[in-house]
Amino acid sequence: MTTVSHPTIERARERVLERGLPADRVLLEELSRLPDGAVPDLLALADAVRERFCGNAIAVEVLYNAKKGGCSEDCNFCSQSARFATDVEAEPVSSVEGFLLAAREAHARGASEFCVVVAVRGPSTKLLERVCEAVRTIKAELPLTVAVSLGILREDQILALLEAGVDKVNHNLETSRRYFPSVCTTHSYDERWATLALVKKHGLDVCCGGIIGMGEEIEDRIDFLTSLQLLDPEEVPINFLNPRPGTPFGDRSLLEPIEALRFVAMARLALPRALVRFAGGREVTLQGLQDLGMRSGASGIVLGNYLTTSGRGDNDDFAMLDRLGFEVLA
Ligand code: SF4
Repeated sequence: MTTVSHPTIERARERVLERGLPADRVLLEELSRLPDGAVPDLLALADAVRERFCGNAIAVEVLYNAKKGGCSEDCNFCSQSARFATDVEAEPVSSVEGFLLAAREAHARGASEFCVVVAVRGPSTKLLERVCEAVRTIKAELPLTVAVSLGILREDQILALLEAGVDKVNHNLETSRRYFPSVCTTHSYDERWATLALVKKHGLDVCCGGIIGMGEEIEDRIDFLTSLQLLDPEEVPINFLNPRPGTPFGDRSLLEPIEALRFVAMARLALPRALVRFAGGREVTLQGLQDLGMRSGASGIVLGNYLTTSGRGDNDDFAMLDRLGFEVLA
């Protein structure tokens, strides 16, 4: 017996899956209002779109927090800000040897991507030189895609990263332009956008995503997705707020699992060919629904640990990918 999906899902199927066009704003708004009972069909459609445009291989990434805490900025979700009393103790930047050991470990864990993250507004000359030296060392030894997340960057800094062999630069917009000032006041959405535009201009891959469940409205989530469509990043990491004690967002509730899954699926339909990566907060938000999360349009995953929170073990994640019939991108 053939069942007919909700008319909005049928429109999305025809536009995205069959014609290869991204969901536009009107369609995204309709998808955001789908009754909960239609969400399983939405997830199945997003999974089919992922398979058609991204294939069946999942990109596995490990993050490396190369300079922890002590950040001057006030992002309200972040326990690495020096402005909030959190349990994160600031540590200096790692040595080049430290970067290399972490990259070797990431490779041994089965990751194909290694992302160096530092808790700063933007890198000092000394920090940038350290990162560039570390990237050269890693690239000389290991077949890893190397990404960096260094905050706000100038053009000369981006050129230095390019020269060092960096493959991808992460800088998250985090949310909509409208909601961003409720998340951070020490720098602006436009400053983030300017860095991303420069990264794109120089041909480095752009990794840009955000955090869902910070108190934003549904409209903000749609604005965020339409901004990402304009930017057209190679990768979109999707995090769900894991409220950190001591931060201004520390008492926020976790996102409802169905809304988390709905957003992953909407991101896939908005950006059919991007690497949509299932990132931080997935365990606490989805709990036993991790498998469904990976069947909602994601084409990549970050292994725990994240920057300041742990995840579940690698064995659980690789067993999940195996169980779901995914390959792991080498
Ligand atoms: S998110 Fe980044 S820029 Fe913002 S406080 Fe945390 S480390 Fe600093």
